[in-house]
Amino acid sequence: MVLSETATGTDVSVHSTFASRYVRASLPRFRMPENSIPKEAAYQIINDELMLDGNPRLNLASFVTTWMEPECDKLIMAAINKNYVDMDEYPVTTELQNRCVNMIAHLFNAPLEDGEPAVGVGTVGSSEAIMLAGLAFKRKWQNRRKEQGLPFDKPNIVTGANVQVCWEKFARYFEVELKEVKLRDDYYVMDPELAVEMVDENTICVAAILGSTLNGEFEDVKRLNDLLEQKNKETGWETPIHVDAASGGFIAPFLYPDLVWDFRLPLVKSINVSGHKYGLVYAGIGWSIWRSKEDLPEELIFHINYLGADQPTFTLNFSKGSSQVIAQYYQLIRLGYEGYKNVMENCRDNMLVLKEGLEKTDRFKIVSKDNGVPLVAFTLKDSSHFNEFQVSDFLRRFGWIVPAYTMPPDAQHVTVLRVVIREDFSRTLAERLVLDVQKVLHELELLPARVVSNTTVTPNGEVVDNNVKVKKSELETQREITMVWKKFVMERRKMNEKMNGVC
Ligand SMILES: *Cc1c(COP(=O)(O)O)cnc(C)c1O
Repeated sequence: MVLSETATGTDVSVHSTFASRYVRASLPRFRMPENSIPKEAAYQIINDELMLDGNPRLNLASFVTTWMEPECDKLIMAAINKNYVDMDEYPVTTELQNRCVNMIAHLFNAPLEDGEPAVGVGTVGSSEAIMLAGLAFKRKWQNRRKEQGLPFDKPNIVTGANVQVCWEKFARYFEVELKEVKLRDDYYVMDPELAVEMVDENTICVAAILGSTLNGEFEDVKRLNDLLEQKNKETGWETPIHVDAASGGFIAPFLYPDLVWDFRLPLVKSINVSGHKYGLVYAGIGWSIWRSKEDLPEELIFHINYLGADQPTFTLNFSKGSSQVIAQYYQLIRLGYEGYKNVMENCRDNMLVLKEGLEKTDRFKIVSKDNGVPLVAFTLKDSSHFNEFQVSDFLRRFGWIVPAYTMPPDAQHVTVLRVVIREDFSRTLAERLVLDVQKVLHELELLPARVVSNTTVTPNGEVVDNNVKVKKSELETQREITMVWKKFVMERRKMNEKMNGVC
């Protein structure tokens, strides 16, 4: 994010305390410094500043992997200087990505003949995977409309209002209308009946979510498939389904192998999954898998030959690191089906411990399901004295990062707290969190009755004040960060002076 320096106060803000042994003058914040500094100084300045970031392991807001085995960390570091796109130079890395694509396609029950290669690609994450899948649907639909001599300028996608922001990005960047099925009280996912009603001749696909970001719930893809088949038969359209399995794609096959949500359903033409969520790899990897070659229009694939052999590429970015692909392959062979199943079962058990602990307080209503993504989403039964945002704020003081957000329309009056259970969230931590929640509730109860401000923050960081929507300005956020940072530096400086005094 680029902000003008005058707007945020001071340009000179990267003071050095420890590093003052190496540099006397302060570093400018927004301009490249005139001179070089020693590498030790650069390291210390940055390392010190980064101490202010939260602890990723205590970040219960995120689905993204925060722990891997040291052996895998070693492989990642060894490949950190390999550009993935140089496939001719690094053929083994390319081979590993192809093995991953095939393993995941089989996991999702792609109808492949014996030995037939799967169709798919490694991406930076589910967002890129969704852009690619969306583009394939848009092109297929356009080709069909052209053939039929029908207009092809008003494509749309039908989703639930609970879609992740990347679908809104796809819609805006690639000019596709997003038609959202609204949520309602106690129903926080896409209703398949309403979705199919919304489908028209311009619908390029219906996107179902396996593991809603908001409460982890799996949408009923089977029901959607059946209803849509019926509608296609009646109308002669060929509206397909995409499954956004960003978080659920590595859960359902292990915990609910009998749940039919994937390529076993004929209308499911593509599926995305985030390798960096329950695929158990650090941030930077996702997968897009197509049912068959026919579902990925050839004209979207580029063939390049200036790095060596002919290479097909279908990605938005050209260069990227190789480490994440290698790390994904490590997890797939290291854990195998058995290992993933163990990890997911353990996550579900810890989710149940946490859920029961929260239920025992008798203060919360649980809005997540036991048979979805292992997370607990909950809301206060009574928010007249204090609200979910205060619970979230107070938990931060114990080091926990538990987000609070409002549901999308038409359930925007519901505010939810969410704890994502990842592999590294142990039972001890779950029990500890319940104790801390109890403490927080106790503290909040003792607060004098106050005028409850009705400010809420959506998952996209928008602050909603009663009925007035105000976007919290980036400048304001930046200013707050600056304040925190300055306080930190002042404290460090004082500490340093004291220590100097002692020495
Ligand atoms: C996380 C998520 C995404 C975006 O995935 P990234 O891998 O972060 O790009 C999309 N859809 C759903 C349902 C998600 O949970």
